[in-house]
Amino acid sequence: MLRQPLLMLARSDKVKRFVTAMPVSSGIVARYVPGEATDDAVEATGALIEAGLHVTLDFLGEDTLDEEQAEACVTAYLELLDALNAEGLSRSAEVSVKLSAIGQALPEIGPKLSLENARRIAKAARAAGTTMTLDMEDHTTTDQTLETLRELRKDYPETGAVVQAYLRRTEDDCRALAFEGSRVRLCKGAYNEPETVAFTDRHEVDKSYVRCLKVLMAGQGYPMVASHDPRIIEIASALATRNDRAHGSYEFQMLYGIRPEEQKRLAGNGEKVRVYVPYGQEWYGYLMRRLAERPSNLTFFARSLISKS
Ligand SMILES: Cc1cc2nc3c(=O)[nH]c(=O)nc-3n(C[C@H](O)[C@H](O)[C@H](O)COP(=O)(O)OP(=O)(O)OC[C@H]3O[C@@H](n4cnc5c(N)ncnc54)[C@H](O)[C@@H]3O)c2cc1C
Repeated sequence: MLRQPLLMLARSDKVKRFVTAMPVSSGIVARYVPGEATDDAVEATGALIEAGLHVTLDFLGEDTLDEEQAEACVTAYLELLDALNAEGLSRSAEVSVKLSAIGQALPEIGPKLSLENARRIAKAARAAGTTMTLDMEDHTTTDQTLETLRELRKDYPETGAVVQAYLRRTEDDCRALAFEGSRVRLCKGAYNEPETVAFTDRHEVDKSYVRCLKVLMAGQGYPMVASHDPRIIEIASALATRNDRAHGSYEFQMLYGIRPEEQKRLAGNGEKVRVYVPYGQEWYGYLMRRLAERPSNLTFFARSLISKS
């Protein structure tokens, strides 16, 4: 119920200025984001891998408005991949990239620029012995993102896709993506979408998630089950068994700082578990989406703000 007002509030400049004046190390930010620098991301990755988990890293940045900003984002990913490789972590850590962060929304040149930039990251990921996954953003970008994915996969077929169960189109997208070698992350979806394109009732979203999961688990691809929802995790395990999928022929994914004990429990049972680690200075939009999903975190958030002032 609080999700839409919170996502709207997040767009206020005043709120943004106030919240981003908080240090990244402050309670609520540090819970979801390990830091702003490459070193912080590499250190968090090392600790997660040490605990038996896999990692995907997201250099936070969206709403890129010019080519310079897009270039800075690509540079950050290239630096990160080098650092992961140098530390011997890149076999267990891949990168997640938002096309909007590498120029997708720039007028006229956006699709071409973001494809070229994504290619550079995919190339560096392959050189480091790992892969890239294209995050999915709001529904106005879905077609363009899937088109970019198709192009990228001609040279880098290991590139992962993301689909969002709250979109009405997603079951069909899953059918189209369930082919051999296709890495597909299924999540519920984190943006504020209209009823014309998305299920807005939680139960409808959950039912759609299960329908999509059935398609992916029965298909030839590599499903990546991105959810913290205990029922979804249980159903995913049952579907994997029903489809004779061995551990490691699919994986679970969760966000950094959310249900860390469950991440370790699943890994302890032999499941492959990957943690999504966001880092960088542009943590505001990411933090607001996490708070909107879990309004009970607001008490914790309010306490962080009070202790700061
Ligand atoms: C690895 C990964 C990658 C993702 N990539 C994308 C993407 O590319 N595009 C996109 O739109 N969305 C993405 N998401 C976000 C996703 O769409 C959901 O918004 C988010 O995962 C919450 O949905 P849920 O399946 O965990 O279920 P929910 O029903 O939201 O949550 C289930 C349970 O998880 C716990 N939980 C969930 N969220 C929080 C929180 N913020 N704080 C504390 N506890 C919480 C609670 O115990 C809750 O009861 C990604 C999520 C993951 C895990």
